[in-house]
Formats: sequence, structure tokens, C-alpha cells
Amino acid sequence: MRTGPSQEEVRRQNLGALLRYVHIHGPTSRAELTSELGLNRSTIGALTADLASAGLVTEAAPRETGRAGRPSLVVRPESARVYAYAFSIEVDQLRVARVGLGGEVLDLRAEERPAGLAAADAVPLLAELVKELQQSVLDGAVYVGGGVSVTRMMRRTDGKAGLSAGAGANAAAVAEPLGAALAGELGADRPVVVGNAADVAALAEHARGAAVGCDNVIYLQRDAGVDAGIIVGGRRLTGHAGQAGQVGHMVVLPGGRPCGCGSRGCWETEIGDHALLNAAGRDLTGGRDAALAIVDAASRGDATAQAAVRQVGDWLGFGLANLVNIFDPEMVIFGGTLRDVYLAAAAQVRSRLNSMALTAAREHVRLRTPQLGEDAALVGAAELAFERLLADPLDAAP
Ligand SMILES: [Zn+2]
Repeated sequence: MRTGPSQEEVRRQNLGALLRYVHIHGPTSRAELTSELGLNRSTIGALTADLASAGLVTEAAPRETGRAGRPSLVVRPESARVYAYAFSIEVDQLRVARVGLGGEVLDLRAEERPAGLAAADAVPLLAELVKELQQSVLDGAVYVGGGVSVTRMMRRTDGKAGLSAGAGANAAAVAEPLGAALAGELGADRPVVVGNAADVAALAEHARGAAVGCDNVIYLQRDAGVDAGIIVGGRRLTGHAGQAGQVGHMVVLPGGRPCGCGSRGCWETEIGDHALLNAAGRDLTGGRDAALAIVDAASRGDATAQAAVRQVGDWLGFGLANLVNIFDPEMVIFGGTLRDVYLAAAAQVRSRLNSMALTAAREHVRLRTPQLGEDAALVGAAELAFERLLADPLDAAP
């Protein structure tokens, strides 16, 4: 019979918890670690010594505190020495950052993305940017892995989701070859983890943005489609094949409009940019900018635009209520153009939520917009890259 985790397993979990704490919160005194992690002083001392000898943290006396008595040592992540590469493959640009443990962006390069370039074909360009970043790496610094943010697309032929970027691209399932190709370029036998933009944005907001301190979060993203990054109990929900979170294909209207996935009446067909353009009687070829122009017209009193925004806001609340009933999140964040629709139609969204979601699930849920700006993709991609190290520091340490 199994009697619970062994001492060694507990030690490894505690090492991960301590390293994660200083990675997220920055330099922290031993006294604060003792109270925040609920461990005794000698355990914190031993864990810190292990992480320090693995080269992951340093310990030093704090600067003058002005208080009497022996000051508590401060534990710092080795930001300049331990780093990851964070990649963001966007519709019109490619970005790469070297990010230190603790989330500090140490160096950054960006380049225009040539039109029509598939995500997998971006590898040589990304590798060139990495070469430039490598010139500023300190002697003795250690690379622990990479993370990539890329927009998820639906493959029309078989409805399988792949990761690509650029509307209309014939998206193949590129996540695995993309990660492997980048890992090959970077060498050092470290994995490169590929995540869709919604997952990556959720990780970023959870670690360093609007959702700090919330362990149950839904980040709704309107980009190439409608997608969600879902964090449950502090962990990213991936599903068996990494396909979890495709909330845009939740059917809300049987027999409704056809969707790119081959089904009908998906949530995406009622809250996407097309739905807004359609409701306002506009040309459907406009895309994101045209959709945002409708929200803007509504704010300036255009009655047709206002009715369209209210209609889409109502559908936004409809799907949201279902998600709140299923996941019982503490926070829902509206990203991409959903941010603008939510801000313009908060009353409709709230009204649907209040009438459809269970009181126990909705009374504590906070509705928010993203706090991190353009850097969210790189911040989140770095969090993907550090996941393995934070889960088991000694196993993944250099
Ligand atoms: Zn669909």
C-alpha cells in the first residue's frame, strides 16, 4: 500500500515551490519564505543551500534595514546566469527574447515576418535572431530551454487544430516540428515548448499580470479564432493532445452559421469579428480593424453599431456563463478584440452571466481585461520555457 510521498519527493516539491516563489516574486527574505511556504527555518535554509549549489539562486545579507538584530538573508534568482529563450510568432512580426530566471527580459530582437511565411519556415530567421542574442550571454551563463507563442489555426480539411499564424494559412499541425526544429538550432539538448497564443497569454497574466494570485483563470482570446487559455489549480490545462481550450467551437446555436471547423453554430460564429460585421450590416472582408471600427462607432452614438455590439455582447455572456458553470474560475480575462467588445457591452455580458450562471460559481468571478501589453507573448513564452525547471529544479538544472 502506498503511504504518501517519500521524503525525497517532498524535498523536490519544496525545492520547486521555493524556486517558483523567487522566480515570481523576486528577491525574498528567508523569513518571508518561511511564512509564505509554511516550512520551518531550517528546512528553508537547507532548500536554499541546495538551489544555490545548483547555481539557481544566490543568498546575501540585505542592504541596511535600520532594524536591530540579525537580518534575514535574501534569496535571489540567478537572473543573469540562468536564462531561457522566448519566441513569439505573430501575424506580422517575429520576436525573440533572452529572459532570465525571475522573468527579466535580458535582451530582445524583432524582425518583420515576410508575408505568407509559414510558422515552421520561420525557424532559420528565428535562429539568426538567437545568434545575435547569444553575443550578450555572460561567461558561465546557462540556457535551460525555450518557449514559443504562436496563434492556433483550424485546419479546414479535417478540423484538426494546428499552430500557425496568419489568417487564411493552410495550417498544418506544426507545433511538434516547430519545437523540435528550434530545439535543434539551439542545441544543448533542452526542449522548446510550443503553446498557442491564448495559453501563453494566460500564463503571462497569471504569473505577472491581472491574474496574479488567482489559480483558476480563463483567458479568452479573439485572434485568428476564439480560443481560451485555461488555468486550473495553478496549472495550464492542456488536454491529452494539447488541444484543450477550443471554446470557440462550443456549439451555442444548433443549425446556426457555418464555422471554419465544419460544424455550425459554434460560439466563434456569434462573437467573432465576422459576427460583429454581420450584425452591423458591414462588408465581411474587413477583419479586425473593421470590427474595432464598429465598437468605436457605437461609442460615438451610431445606433446600428450599438445594436450590433449589444448583440455580440449578449452572445459573449451566453458562452461565458457556460464556461463559468464548468470551470468555476476566479477570473476571466478578455483579450484581443473581445477586450473591446466586453468593455463596450459589459452590461449585456453581466446580464447573461447573472441569468445563466449558477450563483455559487458566478458570485466571486472577476471579469477583467489584460494588464500586460505587447510583451505578454514573450513573458508567457518564457514561463512555458521555465515550467520544467520550476517543476523539478534539480532534475532540470544545468
Ligand atoms: Zn467551429
